[in-house]
Amino acid sequence: MARIETPKRVRGTQDIFGDEQRRFAHVLSTFERVRALYCFQRVDIPIFEATEVFSRSIGETTDVVSKEMYTFPDRGGDLLTLRPEFTAGLARAYLTEGWQQYAPLKLATSGPVFRYERPQKGRYRQFHQIDAEVIGAAEPAADVELLVLADQLLRELGIAGENGGVTLQLNTLGDAETRDAWRAALVAHFEAHRDDLSEDSLKRLDKNPLRILDSKDPKDRPAADSAPDIDAFLTPDARAFFDAVTAGLDAAGVAWTRNPRLVRGLDYYRHTAFEFVTDRLGAQGTVLAGGRYDGLIGSLGGPETPGVGWAAGVERLAMLVAEPAATTIDAVVVPMGAAAEAHCVGLTATLRRAGLAIEMSYRGKMKQRLAKADALGARAAVIVGDDELAKGAAAVKLLGAGTQSDVAFADLPEALR
Ligand code: ATP
Ligand code: MG
Repeated sequence: MARIETPKRVRGTQDIFGDEQRRFAHVLSTFERVRALYCFQRVDIPIFEATEVFSRSIGETTDVVSKEMYTFPDRGGDLLTLRPEFTAGLARAYLTEGWQQYAPLKLATSGPVFRYERPQKGRYRQFHQIDAEVIGAAEPAADVELLVLADQLLRELGIAGENGGVTLQLNTLGDAETRDAWRAALVAHFEAHRDDLSEDSLKRLDKNPLRILDSKDPKDRPAADSAPDIDAFLTPDARAFFDAVTAGLDAAGVAWTRNPRLVRGLDYYRHTAFEFVTDRLGAQGTVLAGGRYDGLIGSLGGPETPGVGWAAGVERLAMLVAEPAATTIDAVVVPMGAAAEAHCVGLTATLRRAGLAIEMSYRGKMKQRLAKADALGARAAVIVGDDELAKGAAAVKLLGAGTQSDVAFADLPEALR
């Protein structure tokens, strides 16, 4: 008979298991704890949206919308897209659910996101983000709170600052007036250096000239590095906003460095732009990125609403953290013989209901079972055979010390605690 070929994991997807899963879960639980300290509300939104939610808010000229989205018509003919990020969906929800009444609204979410990219280390087609946003706040205090939250998260993961190698790079994109003036100066500069630009950047020159600044193509670097900084174009208001953000970071003890080449391409990005970067992940060095997007909700057709937020890749963070200790097992229950097995079903249920982490062993010789219990890191083995059933007490072996004593079945929850 012909062998049936086993199905393959889809390229760019992951099965997260074992050590990797422990790191992954550690990132998520740390985020869950820290976001609560900052009083960010947990929210969950759909994995897919109408395609226009993303095309209108992220922008047609971005890599994400032009080449990375998973878009398909459903059976009813509606054009849908698997979310490539959270911000657009949260902005949509803010409008459709009437969340304006709660503004300023501090939101946190996490889950899978999808981008059709060339898979490599730290880059997948289904990956996971944690995300924090403040919608409806124009004050620099919101930017500061988000950045201090990000910093505390990275500190608690043990990867912030000099020791962990992740540092905050910060820039301002100014207000609309600043940005228009800077954009015009950049276009003039790059027009004068047309011959020095890569083909991609020549295309960007028309649609998205700011993006040339953070081009990774070596051909672009001389022209990008000699381009004018935004500083000469900052209006007093834009300068004051940036000063308020940096003063807030200094007051909170968050280290940052200015990176005048850090940009976000879309027209509605304003003021703060930032990335937390490391040199430990090669080309995938940005672990957390975000900024202020005061025009996004307007571009979705809603009332002009300021917003600021960030997203981080869970896999990239998980690659940087030390492996957390495996969860401890309080005891392994080892029944020997049919009668003991039957009894231990009830005993195990009782112990678990008492809040103890219990593994049930039901295969192999006594010696092998105890070796396995030891390998699992269990503190104790609860051995039950015909003799123990007759006595009404289990033989409890402490696996570290190797000592053994009888404990009445009724006393086990207390004894194992
Ligand atoms: P990159 O320059 O690495 O493509 P990006 O600018 O596309 O990143 P954002 O859209 O800002 O990334 O997403 C926020 C974070 O999500 C990134 O900083 C990164 O940690 C993570 N991330 C982005 N794309 C991927 C991916 N394909 N696989 C895994 N993580 C990713
Ligand atoms: Mg990308």
